[in-house]
Amino acid sequence: MSEPNARSSSATSSTDARHAFETRAVHAGWTPDAETGAVMPPICMTSTYVQDAPGKPRNGFEYSRTQNVTRFALQDALADLEGAAAGFTFASGMAAVHTLMLTLKPGDHVVAGNDLYGGTHRLFTKIAARFGLKFTFIDSTNPEELNNLPQDTRLLYLESPSNPLLNITSLEAAVKAAKKVGAQVAVDNTFASPALQNPIDFGVDFILHSTTKYIGGHSDVVGGAILIREESQKEDLWFHQNSAGTVNSPFDAFLTLRGLRTLPLRMERHCQNAEALAEYLEHHPKVERTIYPGLATHPGHSIAKEQMHGGFGGMLCFELPGGIQQTTELVKHLEIYALAESLGGVESLIELPAPMTHASIPPEKRQAIGIADGLVRLSVGIENVDDLLADLEQALQKV
Ligand SMILES: *Cc1c(COP(=O)(O)O)cnc(C)c1O
Repeated sequence: MSEPNARSSSATSSTDARHAFETRAVHAGWTPDAETGAVMPPICMTSTYVQDAPGKPRNGFEYSRTQNVTRFALQDALADLEGAAAGFTFASGMAAVHTLMLTLKPGDHVVAGNDLYGGTHRLFTKIAARFGLKFTFIDSTNPEELNNLPQDTRLLYLESPSNPLLNITSLEAAVKAAKKVGAQVAVDNTFASPALQNPIDFGVDFILHSTTKYIGGHSDVVGGAILIREESQKEDLWFHQNSAGTVNSPFDAFLTLRGLRTLPLRMERHCQNAEALAEYLEHHPKVERTIYPGLATHPGHSIAKEQMHGGFGGMLCFELPGGIQQTTELVKHLEIYALAESLGGVESLIELPAPMTHASIPPEKRQAIGIADGLVRLSVGIENVDDLLADLEQALQKV
């Protein structure tokens, strides 16, 4: 096996650190092909590469799980946008989280936030725990809990904003607390995307993404990524990505990169629309509670303002007093918002965490962490904001 990123790495990118995020989003990871001038990367559909002599692969390209030009372009683009030393992409967000767990060893103690994506919680407690990793869940928004991490903590694993309750954890405080006990920090940055938050700037060691969401952005491809802060972690991550075979396909890498090019534009509209909807819902007489980090009433608002830039994201939650019966009625009357899990695509989606994404959590535990039966989660799309407001208004009038 040879060099991780053969064609790749910043040497081939037509961007540099002087350029703004929007410019880098368009160009990072690829320069027009030397031979043909192709402006966009090929979908390099090959499983293997011819060798010039035994053990002499051309430019290090041996086998497509190990080296693929399309995947390298996506990995390098993401690394650039997150300010990372290197990037690795995977078949799904879960494959990315799984691969990070594979770098640990039995007995290692992972302390995780208690409001996590359900699939991550399941992977930790039902799979990784079986292989001897130890998990403790804390309320990472509570400085008391954050500042008293167990001495043997190996990794602190967080989401901010979290799914579904949009809790905000101070990344600066998390890194400080982890350093005190010699632990590393991983942050799932899926909800913010690199357009709104760059955890490596705060000293976070690993950034995870479900690129299925905002990065892909069009609800047409599943994928994941890990971005690393330290060059010294590169060999280890690459070894596990290649050895476990958790890579994404060239076609998926292409689609994800195509989506990524418009991330800043899309995020700007997602944020504007979500902000307008949050303000509308907050003052609606039928709505009991509205959760959006951009609202001054959100307990994490000032921290979010400090560590996010350009907006507070496209996700929001609200609560109706009538529970599942009333929220089920609401979704029936909506015309634009599709009833579906997932998030981050151009189209607006609505889902009910209690009977849908978080149904596997026992009702008492759901209540305890704040997922009420009447909770509604919106992934606000990039449609016309007046259409989105009018659709919600007509549906709310009927429930
Ligand atoms: C969707 C999601 C994941 C899992 O990603 P997949 O691409 O669905 O495997 C992980 N974390 C967060 C925050 C998510 O929203």
